[in-house]
Amino acid sequence: MPFRPVVLAACVALSLPLSASADEAVFASCLASLRAEAQTKGVRADTFDTHTAALAPDMAVIGFLDAQPEFVTPIWDYLAALVDEERVADGRAMLAQWKEVLAEVERRYGVDAETVVAVWGVESNYGRNFGSRPLLTSLSTLSCFGRRQAFFRGEFFTTLKILQEGHVAPERLTGSWAGAFGHTQFMPSTFMRLAVDFDGDGRRDLIDSVPDALASTANFLKRAGWQKALPWGFEVSVPRGMDLADAGRRNKQPMAEWAARGLRRADGGALPASGAPSGLLLPAGRGGPAFLVTRNFDALYSYNAAESYGLAIAHLSDRLRGGAPFATPWPTDDPGLSRAERRELQQLLIARCHDIGEPDGMIGARTREALKLEQALLGLPADGRAGQRALRALRAAAGR
Ligand code: CA
Repeated sequence: MPFRPVVLAACVALSLPLSASADEAVFASCLASLRAEAQTKGVRADTFDTHTAALAPDMAVIGFLDAQPEFVTPIWDYLAALVDEERVADGRAMLAQWKEVLAEVERRYGVDAETVVAVWGVESNYGRNFGSRPLLTSLSTLSCFGRRQAFFRGEFFTTLKILQEGHVAPERLTGSWAGAFGHTQFMPSTFMRLAVDFDGDGRRDLIDSVPDALASTANFLKRAGWQKALPWGFEVSVPRGMDLADAGRRNKQPMAEWAARGLRRADGGALPASGAPSGLLLPAGRGGPAFLVTRNFDALYSYNAAESYGLAIAHLSDRLRGGAPFATPWPTDDPGLSRAERRELQQLLIARCHDIGEPDGMIGARTREALKLEQALLGLPADGRAGQRALRALRAAAGR
């Protein structure tokens, strides 16, 4: 059996040189063909030349494109980090700081301040995390390699048009590996359709203008069907033994219909006597929290096409309004970790000599691999999942 001894004084960093000359040759000829195509899409030759002269491919993004999820994140892990006390406190500070802008955004788009700020908090941690990959590098690489080149070419040309129109500063244009950028993490094509100039300087700037970003988020939700004064939904208690065959976000029935079948609000109150169509969402099946969700939840869903994502925003908006955590616990004996707890877990791994980079609260492949080794040493199932049980065991091993 291979065994990795824990040697406290011998942390060795390894770096592997990458050879990429063949990729660069392919990239150069690809860029030459993109130059001609760009001009048919409204990108001037001088724009193209200015912004592509120094480009080199970043093959790491192709790895992200092809990555298979090796680990399906349980919803309780996902929400524990996205809606933790830190993000609630930060969001309340943002509500206070941007009060006037948010009031004007609500007046103009009909989307309340807490919902807009919740999207902001989940998308970019209130502007703290835009993603650090140069957008043109990622998008040009994805335009020339990999399996979705046609899609990414459209995004690449649109990015060049955004720069050509002078909306954002070129050196500030970084984002996710797939090209989402700014406070709201819009893709370039979403920017073109939905970003707005709210501060009136003539530029739609989702990187360096918070008012533009907040209003663009509200505009997105409005265009996705957001209805003013309609709640996204709420947690409910489901009668034991109720037939759940027609559960699901899309199977909407009038709220009065759900009331007749015995659903109540989880806080004990009656459902509103409303005809608002709503669906019964059971993110962890019958044993976990249940929610009635309206068409406004669908608008949140459309931001990222994931129900867990929609629920994170919805719940964060409730917490920003002073609402409580969910009444029903998740069906697990090993709940998820907040970001503060994730950073603590990473610090404990680093103290045990694992080279996992800075403790940033993001559980990536290196943290999981290190955790697997430690779980095995600590007599736990070596699944690499960062939950309360692993954190407790690491604390105990460190004498905390
Ligand atoms: Ca502006």
